[in-house]
Amino acid sequence: MSPVIAATGITKRFSGIVALDGVDLSVEEGERVGLIGPNGAGKTTFFNCLLGVLRADEGTVELDGRDVTGLPVHQRARLGIGRTFQRIELFPDTTVREHLLIAERTKRRTGRLWKDLVGLGRPRPDEIAQCDEVLDLLGLGALADEPIERLSLGQGRLVEVGRALMTDPKLLLLDEPSSGLDRSETAALAETLGEVQAERGFAILLVEHDVELVASFTTRCYLLDFGRLIAEGPTATLMASAEMRHAYLGDLDPATDAGESDGAGGDAGAGTGAPADAAPSDTAEPPAADPPEALEPPAAATDEESSS
Ligand code: ATP
Repeated sequence: MSPVIAATGITKRFSGIVALDGVDLSVEEGERVGLIGPNGAGKTTFFNCLLGVLRADEGTVELDGRDVTGLPVHQRARLGIGRTFQRIELFPDTTVREHLLIAERTKRRTGRLWKDLVGLGRPRPDEIAQCDEVLDLLGLGALADEPIERLSLGQGRLVEVGRALMTDPKLLLLDEPSSGLDRSETAALAETLGEVQAERGFAILLVEHDVELVASFTTRCYLLDFGRLIAEGPTATLMASAEMRHAYLGDLDPATDAGESDGAGGDAGAGTGAPADAAPSDTAEPPAADPPEALEPPAAATDEESSS
């Protein structure tokens, strides 16, 4: 069976800056995969290359075995790539249900919601039922008629997930879902996401600064640094690796750590991705009991929005 998504050799340059350099990444059906890396590592650029927001200079993207490299964003979305935004993008006074209706109608290409918003039509009962099913799944049923502006940030993130679910994605790309949330809100979001994923069966690619969330939510992980994939493997193994410490803390001599991991060699920015099944070894350190706390990058502490 082909992976849900397979990106091969993705390279992206911005006038001289190599933002991504030959990155390979794949996600299997129903998998939860993390994409992490320090500021400027290339996470957002990669995310946008998968979505079609950016065209890669080199490389291919396959969705369910189909080459979508040349397709625009909306066609990739219809074929099964869903995404969340960090902020709810629409008018603050639209209700939660209307927000989902827009996604539902975009999928059907009717676009009638704009007429509805000025009183020229009403959503059909089947459309409302479909929205409400997703809202119930997310525990947001009681908020269906609330204006978006009254929601907490955590509730808004869930509405974003709901909007993405209206297109019934095979792969859900989550862009920094923890941004601006505190620990308990992040944990609640992760719990709900896990429940919904179990119910619907889509795969998740989580792009995150919050290493603790990635450690608890994903089973496999990719580490980018300076546009290169420097390690990949089971999340617990990667979190405890020399590559991870070097990428985030930067003050360790990778040469002294080289024997501790059989990842990409510990030379941040110069390595190649280690195969997922090669990460654990007899010589590798066991996964730290609680690695993320120690490895939390400075940016995560501020909970800032990503500037990119
Ligand atoms: P952060 O975690 O800070 O959001 P990131 O890992 O998402 O960082 P990107 O935003 O993808 O990293 O940036 C990767 C590199 O590409 C950086 O050097 C960045 O300055 C550069 N870059 C990204 N977008 C552009 C652009 N539109 N024009 C020029 N350079 C860009």
